[in-house]
Amino acid sequence: MVGYYTKMDIKENISEILKTLPERVRLIAVSKTKPADYIQEAYDAGQRVFGENRPQEMAAKYQILPKDIEWHMIGQLQEKNVKYIADFVSLIHSVDSLKLLRKIDREAEKRGRVIDCLLEFHIANEASKSGLTESEADELLGSEEYRNLRHVRIAGVMGIATYTEDRRQIQQEFHHLRQLFDRLKEKYFPEQGFFREISMGMSGDYQIAVEEGSTMVRIGSSIFGERVYKTKN
Ligand SMILES: *Cc1c(COP(=O)(O)O)cnc(C)c1O
Repeated sequence: MVGYYTKMDIKENISEILKTLPERVRLIAVSKTKPADYIQEAYDAGQRVFGENRPQEMAAKYQILPKDIEWHMIGQLQEKNVKYIADFVSLIHSVDSLKLLRKIDREAEKRGRVIDCLLEFHIANEASKSGLTESEADELLGSEEYRNLRHVRIAGVMGIATYTEDRRQIQQEFHHLRQLFDRLKEKYFPEQGFFREISMGMSGDYQIAVEEGSTMVRIGSSIFGERVYKTKN
């Protein structure tokens, strides 16, 4: 069966990846669909930041795992599910509308928190990938309503490149995201030190992303093995 790595491998995989990452780049270990004992093994190897894409799954893992883990939401988030993670989530990478941001703000306010978020951009040459366009982001960041939100903080941008063998295309997409980051920084966050994250790069393309200025790579299968989904697709 695919994907059943021994625990030894998880530790080994993390240390191999860390060797290739510059100091400025954080490793987000993407543990979606993986059981808690895989996460515990990564934790025992020193890993503290984990990415999940389903709110309920993340909340269930949060309950049983060490409390100093930083949980990052990397998948599409529906407004009705924000409540499951609002108590403890460290960073939401996948904000793609003002409506969602407003909901996160409300849930954070109830809990007396400020939740850090990234704006997700559509950079891939694929209709299926979610995310904002550049003009949608300008509309969001320029709006009065956004400026009045007190319980969310935009810490940077996120994007997913096209799934392709064409390294040059991937490189161009990451480069584009980097340029977008620079422009938004200058226009909306010139003095805000917290606006500094560029979340880009997955198992297959993170080295390109790092070359293009990534500050966070989201790596799943190269650490934990291929995902085995119960549902067929
Ligand atoms: C699953 C996922 C990843 C990790 O993908 P791998 O190819 O397994 O490294 C990264 N980012 C997002 C948004 C994901 O959904």
